[in-house]
Amino acid sequence: MLDTAHAMIRRAGKKMGLDNETIEELIKTNKEHVFQIELDNGQTYDAYRVQHSDKLGPYKGGIRFHPKVNLDEVRALATLMSFKTAAAGLPLGGGKGGIAVDPKKLSSDELEQLSRKYARHLTPHIGPDKDVPAPDVNTNGTIIDWMVDEYEKETGDSSKASFTGKSLANGGSLGRDAATGRGGVIALRQLLAHLDDKNKDITYAVQGFGNVGSFFTTVAAHDHPNWKLVAASDSQSAIYSADGLDANALDAYKTKGGRFSDFKDATQMSNEGLLALDVDVLVLAALGDSINEANYKTIEASIILELANGPVGEEAFDKLSDRGVSIVPDIIANAGGVIVSYLEWVQNKAGEHWSEPEVNKKLEEYMVQASDELYRTAKQEKVSLKEAAFINAIKRLTE
Ligand code: NAD
Repeated sequence: MLDTAHAMIRRAGKKMGLDNETIEELIKTNKEHVFQIELDNGQTYDAYRVQHSDKLGPYKGGIRFHPKVNLDEVRALATLMSFKTAAAGLPLGGGKGGIAVDPKKLSSDELEQLSRKYARHLTPHIGPDKDVPAPDVNTNGTIIDWMVDEYEKETGDSSKASFTGKSLANGGSLGRDAATGRGGVIALRQLLAHLDDKNKDITYAVQGFGNVGSFFTTVAAHDHPNWKLVAASDSQSAIYSADGLDANALDAYKTKGGRFSDFKDATQMSNEGLLALDVDVLVLAALGDSINEANYKTIEASIILELANGPVGEEAFDKLSDRGVSIVPDIIANAGGVIVSYLEWVQNKAGEHWSEPEVNKKLEEYMVQASDELYRTAKQEKVSLKEAAFINAIKRLTE
């Protein structure tokens, strides 16, 4: 993922005629905090916070708890955050954090201890105007609330603007849960308008019916009843119905802990089978590198929406782009999350709490502006949407 991110920055920078020194400056990370956390039971964990760029504002990016977290992955995600906030037109930089841990193996007390110790270690390096972390894979409002509390105890700052993704009771923003999926719907709608297909009836499949994937489908069902969801997957299996799946029913099924492998009201299919479906749009909302050298040839969709980070590998991206597949890049397609994180930070700093329609209206404005800028640059520069997103970000980062 790090190599892919760097390759894309170099490619966009060269297209813009930047010299090597400027390009390498864009790639370089400002600071890396690498440390170990020891729990009271003696167990130790590797922990990271990478602060890539604060040229446009405080570092911004999530904290991931996962056994596979490592420095290169955190570097890649921090780098992508700088380009995402820049491409989305936000006054924020890019950072990312993580702990190499399987949180499912910890008791609730151990998880709290780990979260608090992580925040305590980083307190001198973060804060509302320095670095504003947020939740990411396997972290949530409860974990962030523990971290905010720790930060407050150490610094006395009670503004709550030190972290975003907090619980609603602790200064979180309405609309944050749905923001990434909702932003993805807006990005796709803008692409269809750009392709003059605005009112076209489309079929789509979703890889990964988790937080982002499920909100994408329920918002789409509400705003665009002519978009037909025909398939969805989780980590174990996929389900299909040519007549269309009911997004709200699937969401309710999943919320109750249901697995698609046990779902009776649709046809079962393999996860790879879902990726190869002949649909108009393939929505990737699961993992990085889902479409790669091994499976890109099976892809039939003409549009891919990258809601996960880096779901289309570099080589697959080139081959699919050559075939005329439109790939809406992650740094725009999933920017809804960081946009509403930004709005949470603004509310905390101003001591305000906005209504959900107000948050959604501002999210819409940012997404429309970023998407329209993306399509304009792609057309003017005759480049792919991904290169256009990086060009727009680089313009802001070098201005
Ligand atoms: P999540 O854990 O809620 O959902 C992930 C879903 O993907 C789960 O349903 C899981 O079962 C499924 N999955 C895992 N492996 C799969 C596979 N091989 N095939 C099909 N499905 C599989 O996570 P999320 O918050 O929805 O995030 C999804 C992706 O979006 C991640 O890559 C994340 O980094 C990215 N992202 C999330 C946000 C956000 O606001 N949550 C913002 C930006 C980017």
